[in-house]
Amino acid sequence: MSTTYDHWIGGASVAGESDRTADVYDPAHGTPTRQVRLATAGDVDSAVQSAKQAFETWGNSSVTARSRVMFAFRQLLVEHEDELAAIISSEHGKTLEDAKGEVVRGREVVEFACGIPQLLKGEYNDQVSGSVDSFSFRQPLGVVAGITPFNFPIMVPLWMHPVAVATGNTFVLKPSERVPGASDLVARLYQQAGLPDGVFNVVHGDKVAVDAILEHPDVAAVSFVGSTPIARYVHDGASRTGKRVQALGGAKNHAVVMPDADLDFAADHIVAAGYGSAGQRCMAISAVVAVGPAADTLVDKIRERTHEVKVGVGTDPDAEMGPVVTKASRDRIVDYIGQGESAGAKVVVDGRDLVVEDHEEGFFVGPTLIDHVTTDMSVYTDEIFGPVLSVLRVASLEDALALVNANPYGNGTAVFTSSGEVARTFQREVQVGMIGINVPVPVPMAFHSFGGWKDSLFGDHHIHGPEGVRFYTQAKVVTSRWPHVSEESLAALHFPTAH
Ligand code: NAD
Repeated sequence: MSTTYDHWIGGASVAGESDRTADVYDPAHGTPTRQVRLATAGDVDSAVQSAKQAFETWGNSSVTARSRVMFAFRQLLVEHEDELAAIISSEHGKTLEDAKGEVVRGREVVEFACGIPQLLKGEYNDQVSGSVDSFSFRQPLGVVAGITPFNFPIMVPLWMHPVAVATGNTFVLKPSERVPGASDLVARLYQQAGLPDGVFNVVHGDKVAVDAILEHPDVAAVSFVGSTPIARYVHDGASRTGKRVQALGGAKNHAVVMPDADLDFAADHIVAAGYGSAGQRCMAISAVVAVGPAADTLVDKIRERTHEVKVGVGTDPDAEMGPVVTKASRDRIVDYIGQGESAGAKVVVDGRDLVVEDHEEGFFVGPTLIDHVTTDMSVYTDEIFGPVLSVLRVASLEDALALVNANPYGNGTAVFTSSGEVARTFQREVQVGMIGINVPVPVPMAFHSFGGWKDSLFGDHHIHGPEGVRFYTQAKVVTSRWPHVSEESLAALHFPTAH
């Protein structure tokens, strides 16, 4: 096995022109295991040129041919599930079970894309005027690019490329340089599935590669998922160069717990949603909003369960939570917990000093519960992206809604309640894109679309599902007439109306 991840351009592994590389770490051991190349603008151009050339044939291929590739690709993802999960776990740190979960959820987008002939059906009106018909259909954009974060090394790219490729586009993926392995294997699986070379390309890299994508005149659209500052940067940059763009950003997800909720059920699910994947999910719960008398009992129940979470190496079958991705992440999370404490919050369970035996250099932080957090504390205002649950206390549902709606993020939220009326008020009034009713991580299935509001998404379209199909295609409307030779022309200089 090579010690360096190369780019994948035109159906082959390519070293490219750059001599810059980054270390890829095993977060459980805290040591670099491989390197990844960091592309130059020239490398990005090679990938785009390869995709542009491939588009000439792929963009005109039949929908059935594209669908067949998706079916074959889906089967290969099934066969390589364990291998993909092992790569993800070793570079990200999440448990194998969790990594398999993201392979499956990503694969569901491929299953959605298998139905592309059905999804691309146009609309037809017979006889909109005498001998005139009107119909609409959608065509691909050309070369489109995806820029993805570290926290879902395979699922987030799979939100993008199956839909883009099945709709007839060709694709350049710039995955997170911290977790390049899954994309490398995905490229090979596409080739095995019969996807023509050049349709799917991978350039590894950092800001240099991202900027080259944003500036490239032959890139028609950019899908981005990552933190809010970079999402805004990508949205602005891509818009400036005239590209279609969807840029999904960061999050601060609230779970509102009503006094009428089943508090054992709520505590179980909040612990799973707060500490799963070490809190490094864009849909992780990070703020618990306890309403009225729910607070004390709820905090007790979450505390008990937090103590029981088993932290360990991702490959340990008993581990429920692994390390965080980098030493910098661990240091940042530990610092935030200290800031909360200094600001007057109560650290009920403290994960700062957790050490996993034989993995003293691993990037571990234990699950942490902080009570009596207020909205002015940095532990609340900032996205921590670690295993930290903050509890805020409010008096009523109205106060809870006001608190959630005042937050600049609007990715996901959940309400725990046994009242249909509360649930309905919540789902109608909360200013958030994805809502769970007694469901803590309401990630939409692949046949719906995923997307937040406010600072959690810049652009007009949510990702995958029906909105993904619209994002990667543009509409044409045809008005057609096949007159009889003898037919009166009816041409006139006034604006035509139906007759
Ligand atoms: P990030 O923003 O640091 O990186 C995302 C991508 O942008 C990577 O490919 C990276 O190489 C690139 N990038 C980083 N800095 C850049 C810069 N200065 N200029 C140009 N490109 C740059 O995000 P991350 O740390 O990899 O991922 C975690 C973040 O992603 C969290 O904020 C999380 O909430 C968010 N996220 C959001 C969603 C969602 O659906 N809204 C899903 C997953 C993750």
